[in-house]
Amino acid sequence: MNSKERLAKIQSKIKAAAERAGRNPDDIKLVAVSKNQELEKLESLVEAGITDFGESRVQELRDRYEQFPDANWHMIGHLQRNKVKYLARMERCQLIHSVDSHRLAKKINKRAGLEDRVMNILVQVNVADDENKYGIAATELIDYLKKIANFSNIKVKGLMTIVPHVEDSEELRPYFKRLKKLSNQAEKLELSNVQMEELSMGMSNDFEVAIEEGATIIRIGRSLFGSRGY
Ligand SMILES: *Cc1c(COP(=O)(O)O)cnc(C)c1O
Repeated sequence: MNSKERLAKIQSKIKAAAERAGRNPDDIKLVAVSKNQELEKLESLVEAGITDFGESRVQELRDRYEQFPDANWHMIGHLQRNKVKYLARMERCQLIHSVDSHRLAKKINKRAGLEDRVMNILVQVNVADDENKYGIAATELIDYLKKIANFSNIKVKGLMTIVPHVEDSEELRPYFKRLKKLSNQAEKLELSNVQMEELSMGMSNDFEVAIEEGATIIRIGRSLFGSRGY
C-alpha cells in the first residue's frame, strides 16, 4: 500500500467509527505524525490532502516547518522549556498538545507574549496513572487549570492523553472515557482562557475506540506512513 491508499483506509475507518458513535466525521481532525519519516512520504500525504502534521521533537519540527510551508504543525512530544522560543516563533505551530507542568505553561505564556501572539495548547493528562508517562495527574487537573487560566498569552483548547500500548484497544476505552469526563468537568468551571473544544486521543492502534469516546483530534503515525525508519 502507498500512503494515499493508507490514508483512504484510515479515512473510511474514521467515518465508520464516527457513525457508530452518532458523530460527524468532519469533527475529527487527523494529525499525521511524521516523526522519523522520509520527506517523500510527507509530500505524498500533502498531495493526498493532509494539512496537519505532528512531531514529537522540536528540532525535527523546525526542519520540516521550513520544508512544508503550507502545512499546520502540532507539537505532540514532551517539551523542554528552553525549546519553547522556537515554537513561539512559528506562526503555523497550531497547537502544543503536551503541556504538562506549571513551569512549562508559564514559559509558553512568556514566549508567546514576546511574539505578540496567543498560543493554543492542550493539557496532557496521565489518565492511566502510568509512571512512565508525562502528564498532569487526573486528580490534579482542575487545580492546574485554575492556576494557568490567568495566563493571557495561552489559550487552553482541551486535553490530550497518551495511553499505554496494549494488544486489545477495548482495554483502553475506560481511559478515553475518563479524559472525556475530565473535559466535561473542566468546561463547567467556565475559566477564562480555557475552552474544552478538543480531545486529542487515539493513535494507530486505538483511534477507532478513541473516536467512539469523543476524540476530536487523532494522532496517526505508523498506519499512515508504514513503519518508521528508526
Ligand atoms: C508517535 C506518536 C504518535 C503516533 O503513534 P503511532 O502508533 O505511530 O500512530 C501519536 N502521539 C504521540 C504523542 C506520539 O509520540
